[in-house]
Amino acid sequence: MSEASILGELRAIVGDDGLISAPEDLRTYECDGLTNFRVMPWAVVLVRSTEEVQAVVRICHRERIPFVARGSGTGLSGGALPVAGGIVISLARMNRILEVDLPNARMVVEPGVINIDVTGRVSRYDFIYAPDPSSQVVCSIGGNVAENSGGAHCLKYGFTTTHVLGLEVVLPDGALAHLGSKTLDAPGYDLCGVFVGSEGTLGIATKITLRIVKRPETIQTMMAAFATTNEAGAAVSGIIAAGMLAAAMEMMDRLATKAAEEAVHANYPDCGAVLLVELDGPVAEVEALMPRVIAICREHGAIETRVAQTDVERALLWKGRKASIAAMGRLSPNYILQDGVIPRTALPQILSEIDQLSAESGLRVANVFHAGDGNLHPLVLYDARIEGQEHAAEVVAQRILELCIEKGGSLTGEHGIGAEKIHMMEKMFSEPDLDTMQRVRCAFDPLRLSNPTKIFPRPRMCGEAPGEYKPHPLEIAGVAERF
Ligand SMILES: Cc1cc2nc3c(=O)[nH]c(=O)nc-3n(C[C@H](O)[C@H](O)[C@H](O)COP(=O)(O)OP(=O)(O)OC[C@H]3O[C@@H](n4cnc5c(N)ncnc54)[C@H](O)[C@@H]3O)c2cc1C
Repeated sequence: MSEASILGELRAIVGDDGLISAPEDLRTYECDGLTNFRVMPWAVVLVRSTEEVQAVVRICHRERIPFVARGSGTGLSGGALPVAGGIVISLARMNRILEVDLPNARMVVEPGVINIDVTGRVSRYDFIYAPDPSSQVVCSIGGNVAENSGGAHCLKYGFTTTHVLGLEVVLPDGALAHLGSKTLDAPGYDLCGVFVGSEGTLGIATKITLRIVKRPETIQTMMAAFATTNEAGAAVSGIIAAGMLAAAMEMMDRLATKAAEEAVHANYPDCGAVLLVELDGPVAEVEALMPRVIAICREHGAIETRVAQTDVERALLWKGRKASIAAMGRLSPNYILQDGVIPRTALPQILSEIDQLSAESGLRVANVFHAGDGNLHPLVLYDARIEGQEHAAEVVAQRILELCIEKGGSLTGEHGIGAEKIHMMEKMFSEPDLDTMQRVRCAFDPLRLSNPTKIFPRPRMCGEAPGEYKPHPLEIAGVAERF
């Protein structure tokens, strides 16, 4: 079928205002939050219903056109990066909250609903949706599901996967499947769990059943200042070793604190590391535990501890943390934000290794951590106008991830593999590990149409036998390339 006819079919499904195909308009969709990766799509469709998603995907299937789902485009690993010649399916207009079921503590939402609006709808009944990525005022629930997003409070409440009970999914051939259910334990394979975190490679989520939880009776937030990140890290381990499960434990080093302070005046002291510890739960429990948390921080060298006395003070402490990454632009014209995970106990060691990398490269590295989870967000600062600095920053950023893997950690805590970390997958996973993942993918998407250029370093054709990958002689000769 001709391109014009296919565009005509798409227009008939989504209407004139739902189809974008002019190059100047497509630019908006050429990247996500990882702006150094850019690919122009062939077309973008803005769908309004499950039926429209199905109709568009059926055309893609018939014509063998790759497609990429897009929520708000805030992803930081290039997950929503288009495929050349492919279609971007924007879910932003599917933004209705379909059901609120307070007695059963669940809600059904469309994928384009913004994270913070879920809590917004139920907060007057004292319910919250717990996963709270720092981007929660803009990112969509569909994107959160695809990335299995985390946030400061996921330490206690769990990542997105803990809060997704069921999914309606348009499969890559346009069929509709229902994964999981509204109850807590659906029989059969946990396909809902498989889909969460699959980065758009298994189909498109069109309805999501979420678990909501009661707002805790009280919340207390404490800021502790330390001379060094090592001391702050030791305090985190001390709190966990004492058997306390904080709602959140977040850490910033000197550079990150400075950037946050300059941006939002959070009233952080000038120190080597700031640790925020939040406790929530029944009043009696929180009041009993907070003095113990403070005592542990002091034992590990805290030079100042301060418990927020009002909601305004508490919000200000969090404002600094949430702004710390974006605020880095005040300290450096460019930076690479990394996302890796280490076992918590490896924190002091990796920090000294990062310091060493920084000294060797002459590049400053700021550190922001979800300290309780061992999730690091190092920011490698550089100036792209200085020749060679961008490359040097990439080398440092990559080495930090290698260190995470060497310490038994992971390539990503919450931002996903996307297009960015494909080349690192083989450092973390063996060939059989990757094969197993790819066979799952093939079961959902045998034609490899759904976000095909993400996650896997060497996508397998679904007819291939498992086992060690053997390149075709033409690939070895450099005559043909596998996409
Ligand atoms: C300032 C800032 C702070 C951030 N902080 C955090 C943080 O604290 N924690 C965290 O986890 N992330 C964070 N992120 C990253 C990002 O916000 C999350 O990954 C978020 O979940 C992406 O949502 P989105 O709607 O923007 O998705 P997009 O970027 O549009 O898409 C992300 C992925 O989801 C897929 N996708 C989107 N919708 C669907 C759907 N309906 N069905 C199937 N696949 C779909 C896309 O194909 C893509 O692979 C941050 C980003 C920024 C810019």
